[in-house]
Amino acid sequence: MRKYKFFILDFSYFAGFIAFDIKLMKYEKKKGRTLVTEHHFVGRREYFGSLFYDFQKGDYIPFDWDATYIFELSSKNNLDEIAEKVKKRISKESFLTFIQLCKSIELFNSESKLAGELLPYMPVKGRISAPLRVHLQLTNKCDLNCRHCSQETRGPLENELSLKDIYKLIDEMVAIGTFELTLGGGDPFCREKDILKVIKYASEKGVSVYLSTTGLFIGRVLAKKLADYPIKGIRISFDGSTEKSFDYQRGKGTYRRLVRSIKTMRELFNCPISLHTVLMDTNHMEVLSFIKAVQKFRCNHWSVDFIKPVGQAKGNKHVLLTPEQMRDAFRTIVKVQKYSSTSIKINSFPYQSRGKKIYSGFGCVGGNLNCWIDAQGNVFPCSFLKDSFHAGNIRNHSLRDIWIYSANLQLFRAISGNEVCRECKYFEFCRGGCRARAQFEGDVNQIDPACFLEIEDEKKKRKI
Ligand code: SF4
Ligand code: SF4
Repeated sequence: MRKYKFFILDFSYFAGFIAFDIKLMKYEKKKGRTLVTEHHFVGRREYFGSLFYDFQKGDYIPFDWDATYIFELSSKNNLDEIAEKVKKRISKESFLTFIQLCKSIELFNSESKLAGELLPYMPVKGRISAPLRVHLQLTNKCDLNCRHCSQETRGPLENELSLKDIYKLIDEMVAIGTFELTLGGGDPFCREKDILKVIKYASEKGVSVYLSTTGLFIGRVLAKKLADYPIKGIRISFDGSTEKSFDYQRGKGTYRRLVRSIKTMRELFNCPISLHTVLMDTNHMEVLSFIKAVQKFRCNHWSVDFIKPVGQAKGNKHVLLTPEQMRDAFRTIVKVQKYSSTSIKINSFPYQSRGKKIYSGFGCVGGNLNCWIDAQGNVFPCSFLKDSFHAGNIRNHSLRDIWIYSANLQLFRAISGNEVCRECKYFEFCRGGCRARAQFEGDVNQIDPACFLEIEDEKKKRKI
């Protein structure tokens, strides 16, 4: 018989929940439209059991098949009847403890019924049935001219998705259980009129909206409008920790504009703000200064990435970092992380967790848990893998069909990787690091060139 701890595949969720300030969500109905958030949770069947989205916390919780069976039974049976039906597999004690846990997060209501719905789709073998998060490039347009930009062009693309296309995408996301949407660009605020409509539409449907922006266009008027929506997080590009360094990357006067924007946002709304830095040749020595800036501007997180040879950076090779420089910057960050109160997230780097362990095989979250959709509707595993792994276009196919049936996505998920990673003790959470970086070196299977195990001697290898 099983102990209840196997019902929930991700106990970190509960650890987080206990620390979470629980505020009961006030369900609202606007203009007669029933919001999806009427259900506190929406679940979808997956190959391992099910995955429920918690609208309050903005997170997915994976459950195994026993738990999923209990959820299915709960609509027509009381607790005693369910316990009787599952008694061969689950002891009464474990069953009741599990129900208590579910009640503690309000997944079960006071009548011991599932507080939400399970979507009708059947699971897909070996992979999750739909992305957890869609990164949507709202427009390719950006008014800046950064030498390290990951995009090759700065104007809007021809025939960018219309509002109607985007609403259709959001409707489908809700139907298939994809409840997280990041709006990026270019700079998504270059579609200023549309972005507010998209945020409104998605929020009303219960989708958690995140923004990724230069932050430079958010003045007082716009910030007041943004404050009306439950935006879950704003990620602001911050590639220089001082005025001199920032203006060097982004253009004269941009630092002061950004500081004004951040102050306005802080004053007008409470949404978590993350300063996002791409470390490169010109700024990788500024780690401590970046962290100070995050604190000074009262931002919530520092998010760090390492430059990849793509877009403008491809033609500006001097901005790239050597593996040794990446290693040193990484080590400094990890050291500071131990003592700093600032929350730091290192992205797309070896040794970092690849998110929930609900997919198998080699590779990162791109294409396995999330996807990127460009401003014309083309779907890719992530924005850095757009040259080789085009999966389809949402104007021609549904997102679910693309996610499940695209040959390129299937190829990407099936990559065999390399022996070094497969035998590495960090593989279970690292999954081979960033595949885009490997691809830029010529082979998507090869070791992530940022992995400094390669440049350490055998003895040091185990001391990371
Ligand atoms: S060898 Fe591979 S799995 Fe191990 S840390 Fe490096 S990239 Fe990750
Ligand atoms: S391929 Fe690299 S950049 Fe793309 S999602 Fe994976 S880790 Fe991130």
